[in-house]
Amino acid sequence: MDGMQIVGDLFGAGKMFLPQVVKSARVMKKSVAVLTPYIETEKAQASSAGRILLATVKGDVHDIGKNIVGVVLRCNGYEVIDLGVMVHADRILEEAQQQQADILGLSGLITPSLDEMVYIAREMTRRGMTQPLLIGGATTSRMHTAVKIDREYTNGVVHVLDASRSVIVAGSLLNPQHRPKFLQSLSEEYQQLRQDFEAKRTTKQYLPYPQALENRFRADWAAHHPIVPRQTGTRSFRDYPLAEIAPYIDWNPFFITWELGGRFPDILTDAVIGTEASKLYADAQAMLARLIQEQWLQAHGVMGIWPASSNGKDTVSLVSDNPETGTVHLEFLRQQVKKAAGQPNLSLADFIAPSDLPGQDHLGAFAVTIAGIEAHLKAFEEQHDDYSKILLQALADRLAEAFAECLHARVRKEFWGYAAEEDLSNEALIREDYLGIRPAPGYPACPDHTEKIKLFALLDATAVTGITLTESLAMYPAASVCGWYIAHPQAKYFGVGKIEKDQLTDYAERKGMDLEEMTRWLRPSLDS
Ligand code: SAH
Repeated sequence: MDGMQIVGDLFGAGKMFLPQVVKSARVMKKSVAVLTPYIETEKAQASSAGRILLATVKGDVHDIGKNIVGVVLRCNGYEVIDLGVMVHADRILEEAQQQQADILGLSGLITPSLDEMVYIAREMTRRGMTQPLLIGGATTSRMHTAVKIDREYTNGVVHVLDASRSVIVAGSLLNPQHRPKFLQSLSEEYQQLRQDFEAKRTTKQYLPYPQALENRFRADWAAHHPIVPRQTGTRSFRDYPLAEIAPYIDWNPFFITWELGGRFPDILTDAVIGTEASKLYADAQAMLARLIQEQWLQAHGVMGIWPASSNGKDTVSLVSDNPETGTVHLEFLRQQVKKAAGQPNLSLADFIAPSDLPGQDHLGAFAVTIAGIEAHLKAFEEQHDDYSKILLQALADRLAEAFAECLHARVRKEFWGYAAEEDLSNEALIREDYLGIRPAPGYPACPDHTEKIKLFALLDATAVTGITLTESLAMYPAASVCGWYIAHPQAKYFGVGKIEKDQLTDYAERKGMDLEEMTRWLRPSLDS
């Protein structure tokens, strides 16, 4: 255990890397498991550096980052209580109070979780709690923490992006000498961020929604005739061969998960991290080979292509062959910020041909998942092997993205066939050199998660793939991806950015959704 402290210190000093820490922790955990029957009495007297409660908020399934933070904090002598994923606010707060946690850590991956974190901070104030609150996960930011969460709770709200920083932050917060100074400088930093936020808000100009519509991207439909798909309707894939998916893996995000920065494959020969990156990569390859061989996981997916046309504004109507759904109206959001001369205010609807033009356009959708991970994670937990557990979770995520890449390539070349001659390397696929896009609902070009409900209905995705949507419309299992297929050669990813009240009202009306509920779902697009 003293050795772990050294590992923790070296990690903090940048002299050891995350995979080494997690592997060291595995050695310690396994040893402790062996020794426990003999050290019960001593353990009772052992003191911990502090008790930290971690949870992924209601409706969210983010897990890997939280697990990594948990391992690293344990290495540094903290007692970590991990409540898991999709944890309701009441349970988090009650456990924190009952178990007398010294620090609370919340994690989230998708935008609705931001609101939930604000709510939890407010509840902590209402309950008169005093513990500091850590905020982490992909959707969170220092700005959102400063502007939205910090205002609700005065006992310290700290945005922590990576595992190494979580140790430093926990140390400062639990040290009575350091804490006041740490909180003071944090409060100054947030004050500055809030000022920057206000300044940015007042300098940015927004167009009235009708003007933004007028300044839409006008595709030259005469030059680009929509290409008729070779097949329409849906097509499902159960137990898609993992061996065919694996070559499509993009390894860059894998190394980011493990907090090793650098481009793949150069990272493997990097002077500083090359050795560790190579060991990690070898472990990943070995596990990948084994999970394919022994069929640990199952790839299920479904895709569909349907006749679709835009109304020249932000609605795309899609005619499905499914009597349950019939004609479906997809609603998109449009950039409203005032652009430089000649720059359009984009909406994904701009890339679908309007109905009054000759030539029928189409739009597609897909949902893919990597199922079956639970039993294997449980087995690794029983073996006290967090390293393999996190490795498997990271691989499942990679396989889900790779499956999306693989299916998209087949759609372009085979099912839709608009790029039948395409022949791109994996590097070129990762660079997205191909024609067309697969924007994901909840992401910047189409930030409304509730459109995912239509996507799932069109594909009958839950029945075919087993993916379910949580109350925040996150997909479970976590290793799942969904999106739209848009074929137009000029289609690209962009961010809708902030929208104004006039567009929000129009959008809610188009969707037949209560304004208050719509506001809740679009909050990140309203205050950013
Ligand atoms: N090679 C990467 C691909 C995933 S990230 C990986 O393996 O992780 C890129 C995906 O995120 C896109 O395919 C798209 O589905 C989504 N995406 C990225 N930017 C987006 C945007 N601005 N709007 C909507 N979806 C976006």
